[in-house]
Amino acid sequence: MQLIAENVWLLRGFPRDMFNVYLAGDTLIDAGTRWAKRRILRQLHGKAPRMVALTHCHPDHQGTAAYFCDRYGIPLACHEADVDAMEGRIRMQPENRVIRLGEWCWSGKPYRVGNVLRDGDRFGDFRVVHAPGHTPGHVFYFRERDRLAIVGDVLANMNFVTRKPGLREPPPIFTVDRLLNRRSIQTLAGLRPSVVCFGHGPPLRDLAVIEQFAAARATPQS
Ligand SMILES: [Zn+2]
Ligand SMILES: [Zn+2]
Repeated sequence: MQLIAENVWLLRGFPRDMFNVYLAGDTLIDAGTRWAKRRILRQLHGKAPRMVALTHCHPDHQGTAAYFCDRYGIPLACHEADVDAMEGRIRMQPENRVIRLGEWCWSGKPYRVGNVLRDGDRFGDFRVVHAPGHTPGHVFYFRERDRLAIVGDVLANMNFVTRKPGLREPPPIFTVDRLLNRRSIQTLAGLRPSVVCFGHGPPLRDLAVIEQFAAARATPQS
């Protein structure tokens, strides 16, 4: 595990930085693909997390959520607008063949969301910031004290082909509403984060890079 900031670790993944899982205090934030169970378990060193919290319900983020919630008897948290997908009442969004293929390859079982999140909710030091677009219920987890933001897939810091770091918007095929996601990128810049932790790619500690990226993608409504 890599310590990113006080009490926040990035778990070692495979390939490195590809499907990121964080431990924030005793909360697992995002849960990788279902193939990551043993790798996550090993890094927990027998210490049980108290909650699994998702940035959004996608196959590469909810893969081990049901497994860990069952194993430790802990609640699953996600935003109310992604609950239907997480609990299996609707397909993951956007509904298309590529997402379905992702579900087939990577996702874990549907699981009951015991802790339904809304914008402004808090757990521990973190505030939930609704950041829709990539999925309807996408959120950031933001810690004001040191301005650390865990931002899921609103932005990625990796080229998915070469795996080189670099900011990019999520691929349109995986994104429900691209313009709305751009507004969420503005929301992120507005938080003035000092450390940004992505679903894909290494953490970034340069606010100016985020601000420039957001400014280049400002939409008239934002
Ligand atoms: Zn993802
Ligand atoms: Zn996603």
